Amino acid sequence: MTGKKNKKTQVAGRVLSVASEFAPLVKTGGLADVVGALPGALAVEGWSVRTLLPAYPGLVDKLASPTSVWSSDDLFGGKARVVSGRLGKTKGSADLLLLDAPHLFAREGTIYLGEDGRDWPDNPQRFAALSRVAAEIANVGLPDGWRPEILHAHDWQAGLAPTYLKQRNILGVATVMTIHNIAFQGLAPATMLDELLLSKDRFDADGYEYWGQISTLKAGLVDADWITTVSPTYVNELATLEFGMGLDGVIRQRQATFSGILNGVDLAVWNPRKDTLIPRPFGPRKIEDKRQNTDALAQEFGLGTTEGPLFGVVSRLTRQKGLDLLLEVLPDLVERGGRLVVLGSGDADLEAGFAEAARKHSDRVAVHIGYDEALSHRIYAGADCILVPSRFEPCGLTQMYALRYGALPLVARTGGLADTVIDANDAAVRVGVATGVQFSPATADALSTALDRVFGLFGDPVLWRQMQERAMKHPVGWSESAKAYAALYQSLME
Ligand code: ADP
Repeated sequence: MTGKKNKKTQVAGRVLSVASEFAPLVKTGGLADVVGALPGALAVEGWSVRTLLPAYPGLVDKLASPTSVWSSDDLFGGKARVVSGRLGKTKGSADLLLLDAPHLFAREGTIYLGEDGRDWPDNPQRFAALSRVAAEIANVGLPDGWRPEILHAHDWQAGLAPTYLKQRNILGVATVMTIHNIAFQGLAPATMLDELLLSKDRFDADGYEYWGQISTLKAGLVDADWITTVSPTYVNELATLEFGMGLDGVIRQRQATFSGILNGVDLAVWNPRKDTLIPRPFGPRKIEDKRQNTDALAQEFGLGTTEGPLFGVVSRLTRQKGLDLLLEVLPDLVERGGRLVVLGSGDADLEAGFAEAARKHSDRVAVHIGYDEALSHRIYAGADCILVPSRFEPCGLTQMYALRYGALPLVARTGGLADTVIDANDAAVRVGVATGVQFSPATADALSTALDRVFGLFGDPVLWRQMQERAMKHPVGWSESAKAYAALYQSLME
């Protein structure tokens, strides 16, 4: 993050951020981007943030001057230590604490799944260990005298940290639990209560019990001093049966201590003017240069030429993301002269569906199954329109990158998508505020109608360009959100 000149010299407070992902080190989705960008954004506001995450293979080697600051002979069945160090040279941007516990984290496969594609069976212990160590650091501090006033737990992987703090009656540390996605609840069988160091007394509706199982996310939701989620609209959605995924009751109970703070994007990483990962950098005043990125992308994927828009998708391929709806309307999209590039991986049926579509319409549709950060930049830079037809979307980052890169987002009207994209309805076009297209409900019919609208808007080059320029200037950085987190931390400290 930039903004060094604004940096305040006095530390406003100390925050221990606890998570399982941290961009650019380890990322499976938006959680990593947020956890990775927040410390720098908060440093600008004067906060000292250290982030605790697991030492997955190779991570310790990335730290400058790694120092062991904590150790245990038995952390959930093996030796463990915490290694402290800085990532990169920018002061304050990434003070990391890596939980080096080889029996839990030194393994092949992805961070959550084994090579068989299933959750590691000991995921409950792995992330309970992370939460346990977070509580320990919050309790005793680090050898250099740093002790947090705020423990900020992200998602189910850190959900037990507020509970462990509470169990031990540790004072002087306030806890914040952030829900990045309520669909992931950190479930474990009730038989693991002892092993996870959880008392049976609180295994009930008011505690961490969830339909007969333990939910580490619910533990965090009931025990944290404050809850946040990543967009104002998702706050309201979470309190409903439809979106709360069985936790809506807990959410409703906590309404007075629950708020939404929109995610931002790291403007230094996602800057079309200076992006070295794209063929031709461009800015809002030279949008015509974007064309070269579009042509290069089409060429890279062997797509033919057409007057129509080039659509892009960068996403996990799951039902949440509504990409089955896109498969349904794909024939229309192609028939109308559109082209589509998809980057993603996930559910086998969706992967197969897009692969089949690419075979069938080889000069119009292309798909790359996998995870590729550099390619994602080329897609945002080259696409005319990024599709995000999610059934639910806590915040969503892809539509924000799309705005930055003048790839007007077509989004479902839900969660953070509703909060960040201004629909090009007649009134919004007239007063000049539109930045994309929204549709609702999340059905193939509604998506098809929205695609028609995109084709219509794209057919008016002057209007399209005005929208692109506006989208590219739309504020999507962290500054406002970091101020909101800072204000929240401050109020909790008081
Ligand atoms: P979620 O966290 O639910 O997956 P978000 O929109 O919040 O969704 O964040 C997704 C992030 O992951 C974005 O930074 C997006 O660019 C990135 N991403 C998703 N899939 C891929 C992929 N296959 N390759 C590269 N980046 C991806």
